[in-house]
Amino acid sequence: MKKELQVYDNILQLVGDTPLIQLQKMTEDISGTFYAKVEAFNPGHSAKDRVAHFILSQAEEKGLLQPGDTIVETTSGNTGFSIAMVSAVKGYKCILAVSDKSSKDKIDMLRAMGAEVHVCPANVAADDPRSYYEVAKRIHLETPGSIYINQYFNELNIDAHYHSTGPEIWKQTEGKITHLVACSGTGGTISGTARYLKEMNPEIKILGIDAYGSVLKKYHETRQFDENEIYSYKIEGLGKNLIPTATDFDAIDEFVKVTDESAAQMARTIAKEEGLFVGYTSGAAMQGVKQYALQGQFTKDSKVVVLFPDHGSRYMAKIYNDQWMEDQGFELHENLKAIPNSQK
Ligand code: PMP
Repeated sequence: MKKELQVYDNILQLVGDTPLIQLQKMTEDISGTFYAKVEAFNPGHSAKDRVAHFILSQAEEKGLLQPGDTIVETTSGNTGFSIAMVSAVKGYKCILAVSDKSSKDKIDMLRAMGAEVHVCPANVAADDPRSYYEVAKRIHLETPGSIYINQYFNELNIDAHYHSTGPEIWKQTEGKITHLVACSGTGGTISGTARYLKEMNPEIKILGIDAYGSVLKKYHETRQFDENEIYSYKIEGLGKNLIPTATDFDAIDEFVKVTDESAAQMARTIAKEEGLFVGYTSGAAMQGVKQYALQGQFTKDSKVVVLFPDHGSRYMAKIYNDQWMEDQGFELHENLKAIPNSQK
C-alpha cells in the first residue's frame, strides 16, 4: 500500500514513538525474548527529547513561559541537547551547566544548537559553588524570566515517561512485557515507565542499572545514603552521587551495578552484532541484562524490554575510540576493535 505523503509542522512532532527492535545474536544464550527500545530514534537522538518537550509544553500551558524567556539546566549532555532543540524551535534562550566528564562532542553539539554552555568540574560536592547544580541555580536566580528544569528533582521528569515511554512499551508488546531493564540517572525514565507498566500489570518486574561509584543501588536496598559508595567512574548519565527525587525507588524491584569496562565493551558488541549504534549506557543496560540472566531472572517465556537511551555518535572520542579504550586499561578483544589489526 502506498503511504500518503506526511508533513510535520516542526521537528518536535517526531518526539517519541520509538521502535522496539528484537535482539537476535546477543541474547541467543539467554532464556527469553529481548527487545530494545531504541531511543536514538528520537529527533534529538535520546530519550531526553521526551522530557524536554513534555516539561516545556507543561510550562507553556501553565503560562510560565513567554517567547524569549530563558531555560536553564544542569545536564550530562542529552537533556541539554533536547532542551536546546526545543528552545530553538520555540524561540527560548538555553543556558546549560554541564560536567567536565561530558564528551567534547556533546559540548560542541550543544553550542551548535545555540545553547550557552558552562563547563563545571564533576569531582566536587553537589553543594560546592563550582558544581553544575550550584552554577545553574545561580544563573537561574540572576536571570529574570528564566525557568530551571532541575531534572533530578522535577516530578515532571517522571510524568514525561509515564505519559509516553510506558504506554508505548505496553502497546508495542501488546501487554505481554514481563521485565523492563533500564538505566537510572535522574531516574525519570525507569520510574515513569515503571509506574505506568505496574499500573497495567503489577507483576511486571522493573530491573534497574546502576554504576560502580554511585549511591542508587545501596540506597534502594537500605534507604540509607552511603557516602562510601561514591567514587569517580566513566559512564555518563548513569548512577548518581546524590538521591534524586525524580527516582521512585518503590517502583523499582532491583538494581545491578555494571563496570565502566563491561558497559563499553557491550556497547561495541551491540553495534557489531545487532547493527545498532548506541551509546555508553545502552552498553550498560545490555551488560545488566547479562548479569540479571546469570542471576536466573529470566525464563523462556520472559518478554524483556531493554531501554537503549541514546545514539553512539555521541561517544566517538570515548568508547568507540580504540585509543581511549586502551588509555582506560579496558581490554579490547580483536573482534571489538574499530579497525582490526589485520586490516591496519
Ligand atoms: N543514559 C544516558 C546517556 C543519559 O544521558 C541518561 C540521563 N542522565 C540516562 C541514561 C538515565 O536516564 P534517566 O535520567 O531518565 O534516569
